[in-house]
Amino acid sequence: MAQPRVLVVGGGLAGLAASMRLAELGVSVDLVSLVPVKRSHSVCAQGGINSVNALTRQQGDNEWKHFDDTVYGGDFLQHQPPVKEMADWGPRIVDLMDRLGVPFNRTPEGFRDQRRFGGTLYKRTAFAGATTGQQLLYALDEQVRRREVEGRIKKWEFWDFLAPVLDDSGRCCGAICQDLVTMQFRAFPADAVVLATGGNGLIYGRSTMSMVCTGSAVSRAYQAGAWYGNGEFIQVHPTAIPGADKLRLMSESARGEGGRVWVPRKPQDPRDPREIPEAERCYFLEERYPKYGNLVPRDIATREIFDICTTDGLSVEKDRLCVYLDLTHIPRETLNRKLGGILEIYEKFQGVDPRSVPMKIFPAVHYSMGGLWVDYERSTSGGMVEGSPRNQQTSIPGLYAIGECDYQYHGANRLGANSLLSCIFSGLFVAPTLAAVAAGRGGAADQRLFTAGLKREEERHHALLARTAGTENPYELHQELGNLMTRVATVVRRNDQLAAAYGEVCAMEERWRRCAVSDTANWTNQNVVFTKALGDMFPVAKLILKGALLRDECRGAHFKPDFAMPGLAATDPVAKRREAEEWCDRFAENTQKWLKSTIAKCGADGSPQISYQDVDTSLIRPRPRLYGLVGAEAIEEVWKAREAAETATPVGAGA
Ligand SMILES: Cc1cc2nc3c(=O)[nH]c(=O)nc-3n(C[C@H](O)[C@H](O)[C@H](O)COP(=O)(O)OP(=O)(O)OC[C@H]3O[C@@H](n4cnc5c(N)ncnc54)[C@H](O)[C@@H]3O)c2cc1C
Repeated sequence: MAQPRVLVVGGGLAGLAASMRLAELGVSVDLVSLVPVKRSHSVCAQGGINSVNALTRQQGDNEWKHFDDTVYGGDFLQHQPPVKEMADWGPRIVDLMDRLGVPFNRTPEGFRDQRRFGGTLYKRTAFAGATTGQQLLYALDEQVRRREVEGRIKKWEFWDFLAPVLDDSGRCCGAICQDLVTMQFRAFPADAVVLATGGNGLIYGRSTMSMVCTGSAVSRAYQAGAWYGNGEFIQVHPTAIPGADKLRLMSESARGEGGRVWVPRKPQDPRDPREIPEAERCYFLEERYPKYGNLVPRDIATREIFDICTTDGLSVEKDRLCVYLDLTHIPRETLNRKLGGILEIYEKFQGVDPRSVPMKIFPAVHYSMGGLWVDYERSTSGGMVEGSPRNQQTSIPGLYAIGECDYQYHGANRLGANSLLSCIFSGLFVAPTLAAVAAGRGGAADQRLFTAGLKREEERHHALLARTAGTENPYELHQELGNLMTRVATVVRRNDQLAAAYGEVCAMEERWRRCAVSDTANWTNQNVVFTKALGDMFPVAKLILKGALLRDECRGAHFKPDFAMPGLAATDPVAKRREAEEWCDRFAENTQKWLKSTIAKCGADGSPQISYQDVDTSLIRPRPRLYGLVGAEAIEEVWKAREAAETATPVGAGA
């Protein structure tokens, strides 16, 4: 009988974790990656990885609270069993990475040091300086190399996943990939295929993400029939360093170590920020959210920064929107030890030492909560059934998705430092599933399917190479797409703009068909690879826009002012109570109508067909997401009273 074989596409944290575990389970792995796996985008992750730990347990923390923070942070849009399972695995994952040699920062006593990240009141984030992603990635890479030497894993670096191969029953039985050096095509038959291909920030042009994060592999799977979930939920990180070429992240860890966000109370105060006295500074996050302060979740911090600059006119500079992120009150030695990596990035690209001068930052596109829809099997204890063939499976049988490219764990807003956890967790957790599926398969797939798949991709490729007389430049078209998406589908969304943008993206997609490639050589041709990836950005851009257009509410990162639920205006206690009751009524109605996952299916004409799926909120009941906003106490009071009344009502009682 043939050895079970799995194709893992993507060698970031999710792909490496899955490959390592599969090899341990005796499954042979082909590991395909666009870039050397050690250059996968995960290497850029800075701030840390979340899990409950000994320190937070002493303060009353536990896995359930981590789970609760994650679903509250995600505005309840994620199915709860997978999130619960992930939070339960957190401590084991950080211990595992520690054992694999990740140099986590230590306290003087030798314990793992922890910092606080957004959306929680506990110091749950383990970190390795400000280069946590790199340390985690290198540790997993070592394990994968070990299995490579044993012959269990075969790596294919500089290979592009072009399409899944489906058999006559619609089951995925392999993929077609292309060598980016020789430009040769190759079929990869497999008992199961798992995509671990990361995010798609490049659809927005400039973002904090690496330049390979085009989302091409996911788009290709979507166009082949895989459903896409919650596409409209794009995270805009509150603190990035604006740059002409790209936007560089200033990690949340800067605020986790005590960094404070402020603007001068006087618009565009020309003084050196160090000379502006405390009384003349507005620490707007601390003033509005005293409980969470600078560590409110990202969607809220981003909107507040955007608002203080655009609505209140308090941007530090007139021609370039920005606010101060201040670390200057923290000792230099502490900053170097805990944040060295990111401070060097600021210094290098801005020419200013952030240890002595407040940084200037502004929000930037950072992460995609949405991704390929994947399934799971719920266990009796409310988590997931380990090894179930449904876990992480896309709507195409035999095709799985893990890491940032699935939609499963973060709902409407991801909490900082939860992504590295979800990537490693989904990689480790999917492995027994894949091993069982692969073992149960057996028998070679029909060779004709691969021959046909190869022919189709070769023809597409050569048709593009032959297009030398086109009128469109792919790089300029990409810039146009990015500018448009950034303008209409980031912090603030309006229906008229989204509808118009959808039409414009369709027109750009048409223009893409007239793109010419300037390099026609069939050797390391980056030009043709980028042009293909650009073509695959349009279907995903369309589903983001359409999902955003149809979702008439505000939830997490998706904010439409026309459907906002502003705080209470009344000051008189009786009127305030009445307003709070009305607010809670509206919240309950909105939850009923919109607490649903958006599912996009690619129509025959390439346009997204949108439907909705109920969310499993059986473990934690959805509640208003206020984070202790000043003035919102009355809403919290009313909501808690309603919850208490419902819990007090015996089951089966009532009309
Ligand atoms: C600057 C920055 C800092 C961050 N810091 C943190 C942090 O501190 N904590 C946290 O939790 N999260 C953080 N995140 C988020 C986190 O880094 C990512 O969500 C996570 O690393 C994604 O890992 P992944 O394994 O899913 O994908 P990636 O690491 O993006 O890997 C994707 C892989 O897929 C391959 N691939 C892609 N397309 C194709 C194709 N067509 N064919 C073949 N291979 C392909 C790539 O070569 C790569 O190997 C940060 C994000 C950014 C942008």
